[in-house]
This record gives sequence, structure tokens and C-alpha cells, in this order.
Amino acid sequence: MIKIINSEEFSYFLRVNRNDIIKRWMSKNEVQNVLHRHSLPIVDKNTHLFYEFCDCFISVIEWRATVSECQIKIEFLQLLNNYNVTTADLFSLITKLKNAIEEIIFENGNLSFSLQSEIDSLTLQMANDLAINFEIITSNNQNYKSENSNLLAEYKKAVDLSNIVSKTNPKGVITYVNDKFCEISGYSRDELVGKPHNIIRHPDMPREAFKDLWDTIKAKKSWNGVVTNMKKNGSQYIVDTTVIPILDVDGDVVEYIAIRHDITELEETKQQLKNINKAMKHKVDELYSMTNTLEQKAYKDNLTGINNRENFEEIFGLEIGNANLNNQPLSLIIFDVDNFKLVNDTYGHQAGDILLKDLVSLIENNIKNGDIFARWGGEEFVILTPSTELNGAYNLAENLRKLVQSYVFRYVENNLTLSFGIAQLTKEDTKKTLFEKADTALYEAKKNGRNRTEIYQA
Ligand code: GH3
Ligand code: MG
Ligand code: MG
Repeated sequence: MIKIINSEEFSYFLRVNRNDIIKRWMSKNEVQNVLHRHSLPIVDKNTHLFYEFCDCFISVIEWRATVSECQIKIEFLQLLNNYNVTTADLFSLITKLKNAIEEIIFENGNLSFSLQSEIDSLTLQMANDLAINFEIITSNNQNYKSENSNLLAEYKKAVDLSNIVSKTNPKGVITYVNDKFCEISGYSRDELVGKPHNIIRHPDMPREAFKDLWDTIKAKKSWNGVVTNMKKNGSQYIVDTTVIPILDVDGDVVEYIAIRHDITELEETKQQLKNINKAMKHKVDELYSMTNTLEQKAYKDNLTGINNRENFEEIFGLEIGNANLNNQPLSLIIFDVDNFKLVNDTYGHQAGDILLKDLVSLIENNIKNGDIFARWGGEEFVILTPSTELNGAYNLAENLRKLVQSYVFRYVENNLTLSFGIAQLTKEDTKKTLFEKADTALYEAKKNGRNRTEIYQA
């Protein structure tokens, strides 16, 4: 059993049963007489006149709160004009319409309603009439009321208490909002009913989201999604929304019902978590790159980017261990730039720096992959050559010496020369003793006039 409690529901009832009502209405003699008088035979072509009357009637009920009396009159006057129908005819037509509705309701025997507001125009007088009649019908048919009606009312109450509910006509104009809708949106019912539903659209909501919604509901399917809406005060609220199209007996959409849950807090918490996650990821990345730089700084020489002394000493120890274990030769070359102080004094410290970097690139490009090249300090460098006898190391040193001697460096006019000292690992050698041997040879090279390679002699 349906209990209609307000005019919106009454208009809904009319729309859903419109075809039935019109069929009965058209079968009335008085209606046919009116049409004959106006030379309007009852053919399909003219039936839309009834639909227009019916829609007019419905819209009057539907918009009672927002449409001015003047607009209502215009609507009906327009109709009169269009079909050359007199006011008396209209009155007669509407009375029959009323009777047709009564019949429908009578037949079902289970419908009662009362219109809530006072409406004072000729047509709406009809609506009020209707209300009185049906209240009488209701009181006469109390016994027909079944338990179902109470159950349905209970359901409606439960839905209204827990959900944000609105209804719109097929064009998206709001026809109904429940208390929760008003409460969350900050609008009064009067401010909402009669307005397009996009009154609560948030400017941040992408247009495509609504395209999907409209495509779905126009195809007479239900749509579900998360929507951000805007309150009257401009702030946002986020709702999990389901929109259901309501169809009449012909399968045409008569209205849409939207049911929503407020998930603002949940969504905002989710967003906060996302932001925290992002910030944390950023911090971790930062830490990684800091660690990388620190590690690099610990192993690399700042100016030239090759191994620094600490790193070299570590590798030096490992290579001695390897050579001894595998019975492989290992040679150490130390070289020092000749008269480098003079370069600084003549061209400046900055030119000296560039020269050191260029020198390192030159050497790096002319040694084997397995050779370990490092800056020992200042303008003094070491090359450790695994699996290499004294001879091989000597040849390498001589090649590098000749290469540098003839190389034209930037910023300096005179050619640059290097002095080399070489020693090969013996069974008794430690890092310290092997280094001292090569260093002694280097000292010899300097003493003997620079731009030379000397092999360590015991
Ligand atoms: P020798 O032939 O005896 O080696 O003479 P030298 O002038 O090269 O030797 P000395 O030890 O007297 O001077 C080394 C100079 O190298 C002094 C120092 O300022 C310079 N030097 C050391 N490290 C750097 C550096 O990173 N950049 C620059 N521009 N100069 C450096
Ligand atoms: Mg020097
Ligand atoms: Mg030096």
C-alpha cells in the first residue's frame, strides 16, 4: 500500500500512471464533446494535447512552492491559446482529468494523500479538491490499509535518516530533497527545489565525471561513484552517490533518485595518508641520495673524482693479499708533477686545479681497466698494476711520461712533466714497505733531474 503524503509524491504518482489516466480521460464523453466542438478528432496526432494538459497539471503540483501564480496561469493560457479551447472547456477537461485520477486510485483501492499547501488558482483549486476527495476516500477505506504501508513508511524513514536523498526531473531540476540533504548542503529546501541539481556542483569536479553519470542514467541504468559537492558556504563535502532512474509504464524516465553517503572524513583521511606517504617517499629518496653522495665523498677525491687515498689504501691491501695468494706479480707506480708550485705561481691556483683535472683524464684514458689509479695527495698520484712485472710498469710509466711531456694543456704555456718511481712487490713487502720503495725511486727521479722514471734499487 502506498500512502502519498505530499504533493511531490502525488505528482510522481501521476507521472508514473500518466498513460492509464489519459486513456480513461479520453474515453469520457464530455472530453470527446469538447474535442469535437474544436474539430479535434481523437487521433494519435492530437493525443499529445492530453499529455500537455497532464504535464501542466503535474508541473503545477510539483512547483507549487516555487512557481508564481502568474507563471501557472501563463502555462494554462498558452495551452488554451494553442488549441483554441475556452476556459469553460478547460475547466471541464480538468474535472474529467480529476475523475480519471480518482478512478485509477479507486481501482487500486490503496492510495491516500493530502496536499500540504494552500494553492489558490483555478487549476490548483482542482488539486485541493482532489485532496479533500481523497481524504474522504482514505477514511472510508481505512480497513484496506495493510501492514505493508507501515513497513514502507518505516523503510522510507530509515533511508531518510541514514542517507542524503534527492530527486530530480529528467532535465536535472531538483524536485525533492530530504532533511539530510539540506543539513549537509547548507541550503534550505526552498532554495533547492526547482533549481538545477548542479547548484551543488564543486568547481573541482571534472566535467567527464558527470558525462559518465548522465550517459549511464540516460541509458536507464543506475550510476555509482564518488562525487565532491559544494556547500552553500563554498566548502566541500564528498559523497558516495548512487543515482537511480525511475521509469514509467512505457519505460520512459520520469525522474532520478539520488542516494548518497557522506564520506568526506574518510576521503580526507585517505588524502592525508597519501600526502604523508608521498612526503615520506620524498624524504627516503633524499636520504638515499645523501647517503650516495656521502659514500662517494668517502671514496672519491673531490677535485679529480678518482679514488682518494683512503680508498686506495684499502684496495692496496686487498691487491697485495691477492697477489700473494695467487702468486701473481704486482707493481706500484708513484708519480709527481714537476715544479707544480711554479704553475700555481704563474697561472694561479684555479688554473692549477684545471690542469690537475685534465692530467687525471689524460692518464685515466691511457691505463688498463684493471689498473688502480688514485690521488695520493697534492700533485702526487699512484697507479697500482696487478699482474704486472717491473718491466711492464716501467713501460707504462715511460709511455705516460712521454705522453704528458708532449701534451698541450689548457692555460699553461710550457709543457708539463712528471717524475715516476716504480717498485715491484716481493714476498716480504707490506703496503708500507712497497710504498716506501716506490717513493724512494721517485725521489731518485727528482734528484736526477725530473721528467724521468726510476726503478727502486735496494
Ligand atoms: P717538485 O718538482 O719538486 O715536485 O716541485 P713542486 O713545485 O711540484 O713541489 P712542491 O711540493 O714544492 O709544491 C707542490 C705544489 O702543488 C704546492 C701546492 O700548492 C700545489 N698543490 C697541491 N695540491 C694542489 C691542488 O689541489 N691544486 C693546486 N692548484 N695546487 C696544488
Ligand atoms: Mg711536484
Ligand atoms: Mg709533490
